[in-house]
Amino acid sequence: MLENMLQTADWKNEKHVPVIEVDDGVKPDEMFDVRVTLGKEVAHPNTTAHHIRWIELYFKPEDAKFPLQVGRVQFTAHGESGKGADEGPVYTHHGCVFTMKTLKPGTLMAMSYCNIHGLWQSSEELSLD
Ligand code: FE
Repeated sequence: MLENMLQTADWKNEKHVPVIEVDDGVKPDEMFDVRVTLGKEVAHPNTTAHHIRWIELYFKPEDAKFPLQVGRVQFTAHGESGKGADEGPVYTHHGCVFTMKTLKPGTLMAMSYCNIHGLWQSSEELSLD
């Protein structure tokens, strides 16, 4: 059931798809950054009523059976305040950087959650120099 709820699309046309970016030249056992953002081409709203709650990043080493969770970032400010919804002044942007290392190449997988439009995923192959 849940697997059928994980939506995906081309991030260039769909604002909910997480965009995974890694610089070239990643070496085994050396820390590198994985940037995960949404709305790189089409901006997603960030209001009290409609926003991205969290992004999770997983990594499946090429010979592993299951993915490992790299991390989870929650975005908890969307303009709610003592004055009411969308009164600000604080809004967390739905983008983050995970710093990690791996001994094996594999697949990076990101999942994001929109409080209105559900779960979205994308993946990116990671090769090592
Ligand atoms: Fe949405």
